[in-house]
Amino acid sequence: MKNVKTLKVGGHVLKPKTSFQISLDIARLPSRTPIEIPVFVSSGSVIQPVLLLLAGLHGDEVNGVEIVRSLLDKGLNHPQKGTTICIPILNIFGFLAYSRQVPDGKDVNRSFPGSANGSLASRIAYKLRTEILPVVDFGIDFHTGGASRSNYPQVRCYFGDKKSLALAEAFSAPLIVGSNLIPKSLRYTSAEMKIPMLVYEGGEALRHDEYATTIGIRGTRRVMKSLGMIRSQHKPKKVPKVIVKRKWIRARNSGMFHLKIDNGSTITKGQILGFITDPFADFKITINAPQDAVVIGVNNNPIVNQGDALINLGFTDSNSEA
Ligand SMILES: [Zn+2]
Repeated sequence: MKNVKTLKVGGHVLKPKTSFQISLDIARLPSRTPIEIPVFVSSGSVIQPVLLLLAGLHGDEVNGVEIVRSLLDKGLNHPQKGTTICIPILNIFGFLAYSRQVPDGKDVNRSFPGSANGSLASRIAYKLRTEILPVVDFGIDFHTGGASRSNYPQVRCYFGDKKSLALAEAFSAPLIVGSNLIPKSLRYTSAEMKIPMLVYEGGEALRHDEYATTIGIRGTRRVMKSLGMIRSQHKPKKVPKVIVKRKWIRARNSGMFHLKIDNGSTITKGQILGFITDPFADFKITINAPQDAVVIGVNNNPIVNQGDALINLGFTDSNSEA
């Protein structure tokens, strides 16, 4: 790693052993209220590596916000070596509106690389890409499941990128899930800029999940330790399961969904996973495991329509029929 003496972050000069806060100016609400994204920068005895800790790209995914908030609150953002750039809420609009998207319905994570004069999501992506990402060496982007779906704590990365995989192994969440790069996503743009970027997924949108938050904080500390930024860390309790394939079990009928297994559990072929009942007592359909798998996410919505995603199965074997 090159050892620079100073870096410019959002127009501010960053030197060793400094901390400051900047705001990324995005736009104004119709009420004239300015929307700015608070960014917290803190460096140790040397500036690099620079680690981005980003949450709230989807405004309603509060567990990520809580993870970065906790890191700031506990002072874990001050490394002995290297720099952290903490952004607890990237999509301020969505956070205020309890929404994944920005007000026009666009998803920031499908708006990269963004443009200076584009719509709101595109402007947020542009600011992050042009003012923050150029100085970033590694990143963790904190998410949760969307739309009532809860993800068992997991890091996602593209297994073809060895540096990202090494970060995922250092993080040591219960699950490491292989995930291809999706065009227009932050991870796609980061890969183009040669920045290894992990996605952490834990829990459900608009619902605090203490377990997912704790795993997120401990994993971040392990990544910081692996990058030589801090000395102490929590040892992981278990070796992560590596998930190479995924498949959703979907609802065959509309009705009331009753989940009968725990998120994160290992299931065997034929095991009863839950039921769908008709609210007018006409039927009760059993959902059985189609094959051996690990449950990596579940739908907590008790009312489901035909085709809705119910249980996300993960497979450790690439030969599984996913
Ligand atoms: Zn998300």
